[in-house]
Amino acid sequence: YAYDALEPHIDAKTMEIHHSKHHNGYTTKLNGALEGSGMESDTIESILENLDMDNAALRNNGGGYYNHSLFWEVMGPNGGGTPLSTLAQAIDAAYGSFESFKSAFSNAAANQFGSGWAWLCVQKGGKVEVCSSANQDNPLMQGIGCGGTPILGIDIWEHAYYLNYQNRRPDYIDAFFNVINWEKVSELYEQNK
Ligand code: MN
Repeated sequence: YAYDALEPHIDAKTMEIHHSKHHNGYTTKLNGALEGSGMESDTIESILENLDMDNAALRNNGGGYYNHSLFWEVMGPNGGGTPLSTLAQAIDAAYGSFESFKSAFSNAAANQFGSGWAWLCVQKGGKVEVCSSANQDNPLMQGIGCGGTPILGIDIWEHAYYLNYQNRRPDYIDAFFNVINWEKVSELYEQNK
């Protein structure tokens, strides 16, 4: 979709800089870090799951590449609404209702100090869980304190919202719910449960 496709919730300038500068930067640096490492043909999931967490170049740029790739996919111009069928049931089982899940996810995003991400993850067996992580870490990495496969993520670095929302992170989080592509998130749930 186009850079202006998520307006008015996420503005075109933010999307353009975020995708063409920030995400591109992580991708370029990840490719540089992988050169000669023997991991050039590994999947990004395998690289992150088996990561030496002291390897800052791979941790930051591998995480940055993966997290943003997911982020673009779980948003869309016809977003909003609520999750589908079995994902909806898993969210109800874990949180009681969609509204309670929304509060838990929004609080995780609002309360993550500094830069990071909030996630909805699925564990093998189908249980879902909300969590958050700092910087470009994500739940595939070991020892993040937040397990499973991420199926929804919100970028809460200031570069994701500052042009339009300035310091009002909670307003950006509210707006994010208008662009979530639940069809895609539900598909990721089915693939990873
Ligand atoms: Mn970002």
